[in-house]
Amino acid sequence: GGAVRRDRLLTTGAALGGADLMVLSRAQGVFVWDAAGRRYLDGLSGYWCCPLGCGRRDVAARVAAQLRLLSYAPLDWRAHPPALELAEALLARAPKGLTRAYFCSGGSEAVETALKIARLHAFERGETKRTVFLARRGSYHGAAYGATSVSGFPTLKRGVGPLVPDVVEVGGSASDVEAALSRLGGRVAAFIAEPVCAAGRVQLPPEGYWPRVARAVRASGALLILDEVLTGLGRTGTWFAAEHWGLEPDLLVLGKGLSGGYAPLGAVLVSERVAETFRDRPFDHGYTFQGHPAACAAALATLEGLAAVLPAAAAGAAALHKDLERAAPGRVAALGHLASVALELGEPARARLKELTLEEGLLCGVEPDALQLAPALTASPRQLSAITAAARRALARLML
Ligand code: PMP
Repeated sequence: GGAVRRDRLLTTGAALGGADLMVLSRAQGVFVWDAAGRRYLDGLSGYWCCPLGCGRRDVAARVAAQLRLLSYAPLDWRAHPPALELAEALLARAPKGLTRAYFCSGGSEAVETALKIARLHAFERGETKRTVFLARRGSYHGAAYGATSVSGFPTLKRGVGPLVPDVVEVGGSASDVEAALSRLGGRVAAFIAEPVCAAGRVQLPPEGYWPRVARAVRASGALLILDEVLTGLGRTGTWFAAEHWGLEPDLLVLGKGLSGGYAPLGAVLVSERVAETFRDRPFDHGYTFQGHPAACAAALATLEGLAAVLPAAAAGAAALHKDLERAAPGRVAALGHLASVALELGEPARARLKELTLEEGLLCGVEPDALQLAPALTASPRQLSAITAAARRALARLML
């Protein structure tokens, strides 16, 4: 055959007509190679989703063995060993009170699922007016309709409405949440939020935010949905970011790093109190590929890999923060292996910085308000400092 066309994918890069499309063909650890053989350091772990780096033989072997043994089984009145084992392993490490796991194929599906569970929970208790989702400005929850509806980015909602009704957006302070809850009375089904926003720059919650918000949500009779798609599974230095504030969510949403990036997988961890909703009434909400055996096998291997690296991850994270702070004093926000450098860039400067990071051999996030880094937890001290050095050089060249 002739040359493969590069303009056949409908992606965010499609506007480029394929000319600037970067084709990645190989990855090992924190290194990625493009089709021309050029090597890059992966500063963002794919899309925050490869906490163990790429190309691990232990994960690949586990997935391959699972595919040979049982390549498909649904999760309905049937199940399979990897899903059962994964549910146990996750719930054993999860915040207190979470006792059931629902598996799907990614973060957006997990968010949809959590939203439906929250409304059903109210409905089945006879609280049929409790339909409102409180969501936070500047949060990202995914590309599906429900997830888009509760995401706080106006550009993502433009032209695709009407969206899911009964979504009320709140600001980023605890009193914003308290005010909305008291204004809406018993109409709020759930408050959904990321423990730490990271879709743009990393935004640590203000002091005292989470304990106050968790208390107010609980007191109002609404559910707390914690979206840990990005922050879960070691990204912030703990198994779940909820641990930093002792949070006990009713629903905890996972994706991304759950399978180490080796297969599509999402999950909702559910509290016993909420799971009670489905004691006499089945939860009629399924996906063909939910909790695919190969994806659950990848996740089991990933959990083992994370258990091995997590205890020592704090040292790497501290070095990363210090190095970044030296490169961009006063502009760094970070928690564990999740970091950003605050910027204020117009579109030409943003595009230029992206180009410069690539020239410096670095893959990272370049948003109008931030340069984003989220290296693999397995990155060596040398690799971490190579990542920050490349970011520093790109920033220095931009400011010239
Ligand atoms: N929630 C959060 C916090 C996310 O960061 C993302 C993905 N960036 C999602 C949900 C959606 O996950 P997915 O892209 O796997 O559908």
